[in-house]
Formats: sequence, structure tokens, C-alpha cells
Amino acid sequence: MSSSWSATILTLFPEMFPGPLGISLLGKALEKNLWSLEVRDIRDHGLGKHRSVDDTPAGGGPGMVMRADVAAAAIDAVEHAGRPLIYLSPRGPRLDQDRVRKLADGPGAILLCGRFEGLDQRVIDARGIEEVSLGDFVLAGGEIAAMALVEAAVRLLPGVLGDHASTQEESFSSGLLEYPHFTRPQLFEDRPIPEVLSGGNHSEIAKFRAREAQDLTRTRRPDLWTLYVKAYPKGPKGL
Ligand code: SAH
Repeated sequence: MSSSWSATILTLFPEMFPGPLGISLLGKALEKNLWSLEVRDIRDHGLGKHRSVDDTPAGGGPGMVMRADVAAAAIDAVEHAGRPLIYLSPRGPRLDQDRVRKLADGPGAILLCGRFEGLDQRVIDARGIEEVSLGDFVLAGGEIAAMALVEAAVRLLPGVLGDHASTQEESFSSGLLEYPHFTRPQLFEDRPIPEVLSGGNHSEIAKFRAREAQDLTRTRRPDLWTLYVKAYPKGPKGL
């Protein structure tokens, strides 16, 4: 395994990858070996002639459950190399930029994508698997959540985005939503670009952007605003 950031995906649908992860800046970074992607088919560890991976839920109820022995065999076949083992699951803590940054700072991740009703609890316990959710909604499988996690982490790796500074200022980096962006034309349907942005006064521009970011966060995300005010009790940063 190379020393670059590496993701291993355990899935029943390996053909979904690299998919969007092979496109644009991430795809170019993949070609340049700035990160690596390994996709493993869980079904390779399936049982019997039909390579079965699931069975009916103990105790009854709808749907099927991914078997613990099959999932464990898939997990144990991977070289872990110090990487966290994560099961994408709506029951985990919601993924946020802090967690993404920590993952990007580490050696990579092993991502287990569930299907059906989910995974037998015993393999989660036996392998000490961390659960991570993409949000408070239910997907049909963990693949799109795994892609979102990988995309968010990989774009933070050195050399992946053209302008590294752009990841420092954006939404959530400072605990605030990002200020609004404008570009040409100067006038769009009677709406001009805010005057201060064309004036060339960098400290005025910085103040304007800080104020906009704070106003947006206060009105749209009072939960983030409360945390931000706690972190900067002497008044907002940048004003
Ligand atoms: N019965 C489960 C949902 C199963 S959905 C429940 O109610 O909790 C099937 C698979 O999709 C899950 O095993 C998980 O891997 C994935 N998945 C669904 N929603 C997700 C979410 N919000 N975040 C991450 N993975 C999710």
C-alpha cells in the first residue's frame, strides 16, 4: 500500500466506484496518486453457491440483515494500516467538518457500506466499528454516504485543490457559514455587486465578509451561532 491517503470501500456494489470520485479534481488527484482507492466486493466472502451475504432478521420483521460472519470476513481481509474502520449508518453521529478534517489528517479510512436493513449488531461490537451518518435521513445503502465522506476528506489533502487557502475560509472552517460570493457581470437583472467588493479596500472587504458570514449563521443556523459565540465571548472574530 502506498503512503498516500487511502480509502478502502467494502460494498456489495463495487461497480458504483470510483463514479463521482473519479471526476474532476478528485479524479486528477487519484491519477497523480495523491490518494488511493481500493474497492472490495463483500460478496467475495458470501456463503454457498449463491455467495449469500444476508438473512432474515432474528425476531422477525421486514427485510434482510447483512450477516456478521460475512461482514467480518470482508473486514478481516483488509490490511488496516492504522486506518479507522467506519460503518456508514444513520445511527452514527452526523459527519461534520471537524471529523472530516481529522480523517484527512490521518492515513485514510476503511468504509463499510450497509445494504438491506443494515448490519448484524454483533460484528459492529466485535470489530469495534465506528458508525458515521451522513444526516438524519435514510439512504438505500452506504455507498453514497461513503463517497461523500471520501470526497470531503480528499479535497482537504495537500495538492488536491488548486488554491489551498480556499479550504481555510469556507463554511464551517471558522464555525461560521461562508459569506456570499459574487462575480461578473457587475450588474445582473438590476442587482449590482455590493460596492465594497469593487473598492479594493481589503480591510473593509474582510469586515464586510465577516459581517455577512455572521449574519447568515445567526439567522440560518442558530445552533452553530450559539457555539461560535461561546468560542469568542469577547465578540465575534474579524470585526
Ligand atoms: N434500517 C436501517 C436503515 C438501513 S438503510 C435504519 O433504520 O437505521 C441501508 C444502509 O444504508 C445502511 O446499512 C447504511 O449503510 C446506509 N445508510 C442509510 N442511511 C444512511 C445515512 N443517513 N448515513 C449513512 N449511511 C446510511
